[in-house]
Formats: sequence, C-alpha cells, structure tokens
Amino acid sequence: MDTIRLAQLLFPDVTETPEQVEARYPARQLPEGAKVTRMAPSPTGFMHLGNLFGAVVDERLAHQSGGIFYLRIEDTDKKREVEGGVQLILDTFRKFGLPFDEGATIDGDNGDYGPYRQSKRAAIYHIFVKQLVERGYAYPCFCTEEELAEMRAEQEKNKENFGYYGKYAKYRDCPLEEIERRIAAGESYVIRFRSMGSIENKIKHTDLVKGTLELTENDQDIVLLKSDGIPTYHFAHIVDDHLMGTTHVVRGEEWLATLPVHLQLFDVMGWKRPKYVHTAQLMKMDGGSKRKLSKRKDPELALSYYYEMGIPVPAVIEYIMTLLNSNFEEWRRANPDQSINDFPFSPKKMSVSGSLFDMEKLSDVCKQVISRMSAEEVYGYVSDWAAQYDPEFAALFTRDPEMTKKFLAIGRGGKKPRKDIEIWSTVKQYMDFMFDELFQPDYSGMPERVSTEDAKAILNEYADIFDPADEMTVWFDKVKQLAAEHGFAPETKLYKKNPEDYKGPVGDISMVLRVAVCGRTNAPDLYSVMQLLGTEKIRERLARCAQAL
Ligand code: GLU
Repeated sequence: MDTIRLAQLLFPDVTETPEQVEARYPARQLPEGAKVTRMAPSPTGFMHLGNLFGAVVDERLAHQSGGIFYLRIEDTDKKREVEGGVQLILDTFRKFGLPFDEGATIDGDNGDYGPYRQSKRAAIYHIFVKQLVERGYAYPCFCTEEELAEMRAEQEKNKENFGYYGKYAKYRDCPLEEIERRIAAGESYVIRFRSMGSIENKIKHTDLVKGTLELTENDQDIVLLKSDGIPTYHFAHIVDDHLMGTTHVVRGEEWLATLPVHLQLFDVMGWKRPKYVHTAQLMKMDGGSKRKLSKRKDPELALSYYYEMGIPVPAVIEYIMTLLNSNFEEWRRANPDQSINDFPFSPKKMSVSGSLFDMEKLSDVCKQVISRMSAEEVYGYVSDWAAQYDPEFAALFTRDPEMTKKFLAIGRGGKKPRKDIEIWSTVKQYMDFMFDELFQPDYSGMPERVSTEDAKAILNEYADIFDPADEMTVWFDKVKQLAAEHGFAPETKLYKKNPEDYKGPVGDISMVLRVAVCGRTNAPDLYSVMQLLGTEKIRERLARCAQAL
C-alpha cells in the first residue's frame, strides 16, 4: 500500500508537518519537578462535584510544585454541547476560586499553548493523523451504521468481544484503488487507528492513585477522526496533552477502561506518556448502602447547588480536601489557622476505592470554616450571596455595614469561636432580630420559674436602668441586682447551693431580657447585642414584650 499517496488523498490540504507544529509548542521552561495539569471539561451545561474534585487535585499538584494549571475546553462532541456551556465552566471555577494560569477565556485564549478549545484545533489534529496514515497506523473506514450493527450482532452471537478489531476490521486492508473509488463516489468515512496490540498481551501501568495495574493491551482500531473530520476524545486529548506539555492527567476512574488505547497512542506517536491520577468515584450512603452520586437523584452533585444554597466555597474546598487526603483532618486540627495551600497534598494519600460524600460532614466543616473567618470576610460572602439570591435581605444586611460587621464579630476570634453559622442562607434567621423589618418575636421561651408578673416588672424596671455606656461588668451587675430584688439568686453558685431560698438563678433574668430583646432564647452575647441595638430599640422591645405577656 502506498501510504504516502493515501495520506495525500485523505488530507490534500494539509501542508504543514508535525515538526512545524511541534516548533510552535516549545518545551515549557519550568523549575525542576514542576507539574503541568489541566482541567478539561466538556461544555455540557452541567458542572458537578467530580469536576471540582479533579480541579482541586490539578490545582494543588500544579501550584504546589511551581507548575501550571490550565483550562482546556473539550468541545468535540457537538451533540452534548449547550449554549453558554463555556461561560458556565468559567463562572463555576471563578466562584470556587480556582485560579487558572492559562487557558480558554470566554472569547479567546490566555497563554502561549493554545488554542485551548478543541474545536479550534482541527487543523492540528489533521496534521498528526495524516502522519499516522503515512506511517501505516491509520486508514479510512467506510462502514455504515448498519454494517456496524451487523458486526455487533454477529459478535454477540459468537460470544466474542465487541468492537472493530482483527477479522472484524473490515477496511483495515482495503486496497488503495477501492478507497479512491469510494471517496470519488462521495462515501462518508472515518479514520481509524491501526492497532498492533493484542488482548493476549498485558501491559503494566502505574497510576499515582491506583498503584501498579495490569491492563489488557488494546486491539481495537478505534476512531481517530469522525466523518466530519472532528477527532474523538481519545485522539484529541493525547495530541493536546503532548503539545501543551501536560505532565499529570487527573481524571475520573471511568477513563481507566480506555487507558490502554491512550498509552498505545502516546507510544505510537513517540511521545512521552504523562503520569496519570485516576480519581475514585464519589459515593453516598443511601438506605444503608453505598451508591454513586446521581444527577437525577442528588441535587448536591451539581456545583450550582452549593452557591445557590449559600454553602461557603472555602468549606466545600476544605471538605473536598478531607476526602482527597486521609491525613488532611489531622493536619487541620494541628494547624487550624493555616491556609489550606500550606497542606502538603499528595496523590498517594488519595482513596483508591470510592470517596463517601456526606452532606452532614460538610455542614460540620462549614461551621468550622466560617467560625475561623473574620467578620469582614463573612460580611463579604453574605453580601455577595444575598445580592444574588435574597436581595431584600441584602438591602438590610448592607444598610449599616459597621453595625452588621460588629454583630458578626460577636463571639468570633479567640480559641473557641462560636459555630452558629453554617450556610449563608441562614444568616438571615440568625440575625433577623437586628432589623426591625424582620423582628418577629416569639415570647414562648420565657423561663417557667419567672411568673408573668415578675417578668413584666423586670422588663419595666430594666428599661429604666439600661445604659449603653455601661461596661460589661456594670451591665451584668445591674442584671444581678434586678435578680436579687425579685427573689432570684444573683450568682448561679448560690442558687445551686440553696435552691429552696430562691425563685431561680440570675440566668433566668438574662433569659427574660434575651427573649424580649431578641425574640428568642438562643442568640449571641446579649450585652454586645444590646450595645448594637441602642437604647431606643431596647426600650421599645422591652415595652412590647411586657405588653404581650
Ligand atoms: N472531556 C473529558 C470529560 O469531560 C475530560 C477527561 C480528561 O480530563 O481527560 O470528562
């Protein structure tokens, strides 16, 4: 077979050589050991946890080693592509704070190794396929859908492996004259790879997560270019990863099945294989058994769920890190204030089987992470979230930024910060009493030991003695005094010692005040809250409560 003539017949317009292309993608000048990783999503309009899971690994591997993390859009499957898909990818990673060093932008590219959209790289793939044809490693196949279906039926009947291989590779040795005739007649064709592999052979591969695996060699003549000239994922990604200098391919373990094809392609092209990090499936517990997260059943699989619900981005990332590296939690306990980027991430510590994604655990992480944020940070996150998802609350929340920040600062800092905010969407309930517009008091929590008569008297008397200028100790002394005057123990100790001497402990009195001022039994430090609300509001609320009892 004159493969040079065949290549010319199939690619008459390709004049550039692989060497010329290679020259446009020089080796990257990076420090020793620097890793180059990529996020390579398809613009299907659905961004899921698996994407973020992989992206965190990519980002850490690259940035921890002084390397490059880039974004490539894998848009070769037009059937799965949706309008706005690229925008969604960019928005999602921006929201999750994953910084790409280079890659696709909304209307172009940022970086020297582009284009970063596969749809803009057709000419490049053709140059390399043409070379494979010349070398006898690729050929056109004219099989129709019907022929392929028949082949499958026969394989099923004979209990043989499915696919296009060996004796089933109908056009593998098609004479050049026949190819010329079919092309001249306008027949549609794909370009297939000519596999020299055999399923009798095993190949060894060491995955950075899965360890050393024994895989069956590929014997399938897989499609390299579809009939419209667009490459398959198999071919496109190896060309791109080679030219763009990817050192580590991080992707879901569903790609392990076709890894032998990819390794074979790298070898035939004479290119260095990248290292692979195949990440385990994300699972969840459902009725006592583990199952894969599902797009249909589990809203938490979609990344949009997190920002819509107001789940803090740093907490999601932090939680993902606990799933990715088994030693992360221990590290975090020892280093509560350190940046997550200081953690020495290692693919060796990644789970080989599925990772269990647990929303309750995530909630815990959220509380921890938020409790470590400054009031300023919380303010920023909540105002951003509310501006988009709860504009009415956003208006109140940002009306007096200083007051809001001071409120958020209550119980923050120190060794044991309060952990009462879990997601941004609940901040409204958490601080509704700080805004008259939202204040809807529930007085049912008045302590039982305080009679209505006492409660009314306490509220009325307190209105006269409250002074926002009081220091905390003075403020509390006044509460104690009020307690004593009404037959309550001014110190909890005293009450504990001789409960029969008192109606109740001083805590009952602060509870009466808390219920009146905050409209509930559970609220952050009452002294600080009263300081922020000011005399007028306090008096108004005390009176309102006294009247309602
Ligand atoms: N485009 C593939 C996907 O959407 C990417 C796989 C890879 O990272 O190589 O899953």
